[in-house]
Amino acid sequence: MNKMGEWRRSHYSGQLSSENQDEEVTIAGWVHEIRDLGGVMFLVVRDREGEIQITLPDSKVSDNLSQKASNLNKESVVMVRGIVKEDERAPGGFEIIPEQIKVLSQAKTPLPFEVSGNVNTDLSTRLNSRFLDLRRSEIASIFKVRNTVLTKVREFLETDGFIEINTPKMVATATEGGTDLFPISYFEREAFLNQSPQLFKQMMMSSGLDKVYEIGPIFRAEEHDTHRHLNESISIDIESAFADHNDVMEILEEMIAYIIEGVKKECKKELKEIDSKVEEPELPLKRLRYEEAIEIANQKDIDVLWGEDLSTPAEKAIGEEIGDYYFIVDWPSEIKPFYAQPKDENSDLSKAFDLMHPEFEISSGAQRVHNIELLKERMIQQGLDPNDFDFYLDAFEYGMPPHAGWGLGAERLIMAITSQSNIREVILFPRDRKRLIP
Ligand code: ATP
Ligand code: MG
Repeated sequence: MNKMGEWRRSHYSGQLSSENQDEEVTIAGWVHEIRDLGGVMFLVVRDREGEIQITLPDSKVSDNLSQKASNLNKESVVMVRGIVKEDERAPGGFEIIPEQIKVLSQAKTPLPFEVSGNVNTDLSTRLNSRFLDLRRSEIASIFKVRNTVLTKVREFLETDGFIEINTPKMVATATEGGTDLFPISYFEREAFLNQSPQLFKQMMMSSGLDKVYEIGPIFRAEEHDTHRHLNESISIDIESAFADHNDVMEILEEMIAYIIEGVKKECKKELKEIDSKVEEPELPLKRLRYEEAIEIANQKDIDVLWGEDLSTPAEKAIGEEIGDYYFIVDWPSEIKPFYAQPKDENSDLSKAFDLMHPEFEISSGAQRVHNIELLKERMIQQGLDPNDFDFYLDAFEYGMPPHAGWGLGAERLIMAITSQSNIREVILFPRDRKRLIP
């Protein structure tokens, strides 16, 4: 095995141009293909940006070098130093006639699955060797889009004056008193992995930071095994003081449009490779009242009674009718969390909203209750003991402005943008009912 020594990559495969003709370059990557045509051998080396052909004609390279190349296994790591030649027949239009090849890491055979050509394997096998799966450019493309989505989120929120915060993930009480929590042992006490930064970001509204956001993990011990639920997921959360639900809905729809516009501009190659059908939504998005939403479902023979949450078939039926992102507003107070502010004119309805993609929910938000008496009352109505929430309620005792916010599932949004039907495709190492390794 060779050492890298002083060698460094001079170009990624995609960076070669006519200007490099006859120049000596150093490329680095994985052996994608090896073809020996008798008299001439071809290596295709793959890196993050694409593939480059290394051509070894018997007449031009030493026996030693040809021997080295023919001993390579697919997916081994090599560095190649050689001369660039423009050649129409080569993929990408260039080939390299090598002077030296360094074999830095020989790959074992057989591979868990093929990386080049027709990859015929199931998701579970792919996830078991995710490092190998990502060597396929259509898989890497999903994660390049993911990177751009999260960059655009930060760009948008920072430009709008939001301050990034980080809140604890190990907590003593459940956010909403739900049962879907992972208990952990915290020295001699029981603790939980936090299911949402909700309480902490609301407490920041009393701090005077005014507009905060967090991009961080949430943990939910949901037992079900669906194509849109994970047990560990990344949530994009905002909270804004002196704002109501309408204000933060506008921020949300504008952010989604900004992200999609940015991804379409900056990830053309990746979107094409994964065959994404993403389109910029037309703003303002439709605001569908809960009552109208259940009426659409009922018309399509999916029974939803007033006061019930929307089932998956109901969400699908309504989404089909609307055909684009849309909001559902005017939710019954009883099915929204205790911190959702009831409407002034009718307290049976709340200032809570969901942002829907035609196929699934991507965000939930609300104007929050900032009056401590009402907050305690709502907790009791929902079967929670306000004494368990002293640390949270304290922040409402000494000057809490009206505020509103939302939580947006990063993976749900990325699924929508990359047109993936299984959420596991858009997270490196999914955590689900069966999967904890790797
Ligand atoms: P759903 O009804 O789709 O299960 P939810 O209403 O339980 O979602 P919220 O508590 O409102 O979820 O969380 C806010 C957002 O976080 C959701 O709109 C969704 O985008 C995301 N999210 C919630 N739970 C999960 C999960 N288990 N896996 C992936 N994303 C999730
Ligand atoms: Mg929700």
